[in-house]
Amino acid sequence: MKNKIIDDSKNISRRNFLKTSIALGGLSTIAIFGGESFVTSAASGFTGSGFKTKEQFDTIIANGLIYCGDGKAPLKADLGLKNGKISAIGKLGKSCREFIDAKGQAVSPGFIDIHTHTDTNLLEAPLGDSRLFQGVTSDIAGNCGGSPFPYSDAEYEAAKGTKRFGYPFWKNIDGFYDALRKNTIGINFKSYTGQGTLRHVVVGDNNVPCTPDQLKKMCYLLDQQIEMGSIGLSFGLEYTPGSYGSREEFVELLKVVAKHNALYAIHMRNEDDRVEQAITEAIDLARASGARLEISHLKAQNEANWGKVPNMLKLIDDAVASGMDICFDRYPYTAFSTDMETFVPLNDRQGSNEDVIARLKDPVKSKAIGEYALSRIKRLGGPHCVLVAACFAPGNEKYSGKFIDECCAISGMDVWPMIQYLLISENLGVQIAGFAMKESNLRAILNHPLAMVASDGSVYSPNGRLGTEMPHPRSYGTFPNYLGKYVRDEKFCDLQTAIYKCTGLPAHQLRLKERGLLKVGYAADVVVFNPVTIADIATYAKPHQFPRGIDHVFVNGAHEISGGKYTGCKLAGVIL
Ligand SMILES: [Zn+2]
Repeated sequence: MKNKIIDDSKNISRRNFLKTSIALGGLSTIAIFGGESFVTSAASGFTGSGFKTKEQFDTIIANGLIYCGDGKAPLKADLGLKNGKISAIGKLGKSCREFIDAKGQAVSPGFIDIHTHTDTNLLEAPLGDSRLFQGVTSDIAGNCGGSPFPYSDAEYEAAKGTKRFGYPFWKNIDGFYDALRKNTIGINFKSYTGQGTLRHVVVGDNNVPCTPDQLKKMCYLLDQQIEMGSIGLSFGLEYTPGSYGSREEFVELLKVVAKHNALYAIHMRNEDDRVEQAITEAIDLARASGARLEISHLKAQNEANWGKVPNMLKLIDDAVASGMDICFDRYPYTAFSTDMETFVPLNDRQGSNEDVIARLKDPVKSKAIGEYALSRIKRLGGPHCVLVAACFAPGNEKYSGKFIDECCAISGMDVWPMIQYLLISENLGVQIAGFAMKESNLRAILNHPLAMVASDGSVYSPNGRLGTEMPHPRSYGTFPNYLGKYVRDEKFCDLQTAIYKCTGLPAHQLRLKERGLLKVGYAADVVVFNPVTIADIATYAKPHQFPRGIDHVFVNGAHEISGGKYTGCKLAGVIL
C-alpha cells in the first residue's frame, strides 16, 4: 500500500527554486543529499523582519539525523527554527540564539497522538506532562464516544455562574477551547465530539430509540461543534448510552461528518468474539454516510480470537481497495484499559450510578450479573489477567495495582463478590487493565501501512490530583515504548516508517495544516531523541514515570523540554 503523504516538494524543480531564491535575495541555501536537490529555506524565513534580527534563526538543531515524518530515509542536516516555524533545513552555520548539537540523535516532527482521552486533564496539568515528556506535541481528545461538551440547556442553566477548573462553565466546544487557551497549554490540542455525549444530552441515558426531533437536534449540535473546531465524531459502542442508537441514527449523524470532510472514529461494539462483525458495522456506517473512518485501538481480545487478526485486516484492506478512506490506531501494549463496569451487562448499566448499584445489591439481579462477569473474566484468561489499576475509597488502597486473584487473596473473597464489592464501594469508578492480547498480533497490526501509533491515554502529571490516579502506563510511555522496545529491540520496522506512523500519517488523516512533517514553513513541533536509549519506564504499578531518551521537545518553536526537563518557558501549545 502506498504511503499516504503526497510530496509536493518534488514539484519544485531545482532550477525553479534557484530562480525564486535569487529573486528573493539569493540567501537561501541548497544542500545536496544523495544526488537529490533539497530545498532548504522558505522565502518567508528570509524576508521582512527575518533580515532585521541579529541572528538568522531562533534555534539551530545541528548535526542530527533528520526524519522528515514522510517515511523516507533520514538526512544528515541542521534544522533551523524561526518565529515558531521550520525555516530551513541544510548546512546552516551558527547564526542563532540557541544552538543545539544533536549529533547521534534523531530529529523528528513532534508526535501526534490521534487517540487520547486528554479532555479536561489539560486544564489540571497545563504542561501536559505525561505527553510532552515523551515527545508528543499534539493530542487529539474526545474519543470513544465521550467529550466534555456539549451540555444540555438544562445542565448548562443549572451550572451557569459556576466555574469548572477555574473557568466559566462552558456549553459548547468553543467555550472549552477558550478555557484551554486562557489556561495556556504545553501541547497542541483538538477534540472529537462524543456521540455518547450527544445522545446523553438529547435523548438521555436509557435504551430507547430517538425521535425524529431528537435526531435533528443531535445533528444540529454536532454540526455546531464541527463548525467551532471539532475534528469530527467519535463513537464508543461498548459504552452506554451511545450504544443504544440505531443504524439509521448513526448514519444521519455521520452524514454531518461527511459534509465537513471531518473524521469518524469508532471504539467498536465488540473487540473479541464478534470483532469481525464489529469491523463490518464500522465500515458499513462509513460507506452509508460517506464519512472517513478511523478505527480506534484495533485489537482481537481473548485467546479464542487471536487467530482473527488476518481476516480483520483483510476486511479493512478490501474496503480500502473499494475506494474508502480508512485508517486505524493501536497502542503498543498487550493489555487494554477500561472500566470495571464493563463486567456488568449493557442493559444493567442503564440509568444513574445509583440505579446500577441498586442492581448490584439486589440478590437476584446481582447473581445474573455475576455470572456474566465471571464468564467475561474466564474468556479474558482468568482473574490473574485482570489488574485493578486504582482504588480511592478508604481501606481500598491495598487493591490498587493488584490483579483480581491477588485482591481475592488479600480480602478472602471469591472473584464475583470481590468485583461486586469494588464496584459498589468505588461508586462504579474502577479502572482495570486486561492482559488479553497477543504480541505477534500487535506486530501484524502496527506494521500494517494504515496503522498509526496512539496511546488511548491522557495527560497526567506526577504532581497534583492526577498524580494520585493509576493510569495505564501508555499515557506516559506509548511513543518511547514503540520506538524503543518494538522498533529498535524487536525490529518491527525501520525508524523512518515508525516515525511516519507517529507524525506524518496522523497529520494527514486529521488534515492538520502544516503539521506532522519537518518541512520548511511547517510549525516547529520537533522532538530530538536518542534512538539507542529511548525507552518507556512507566509500569502498571508505578505509572507516573517519564521515559528515557527524549532530550528536546519544541512546540510551535518554544523549547519546552531540554535535557529531559521542562525549561520553564512560556507554554506554546495551540488549539489546532
Ligand atoms: Zn476506546
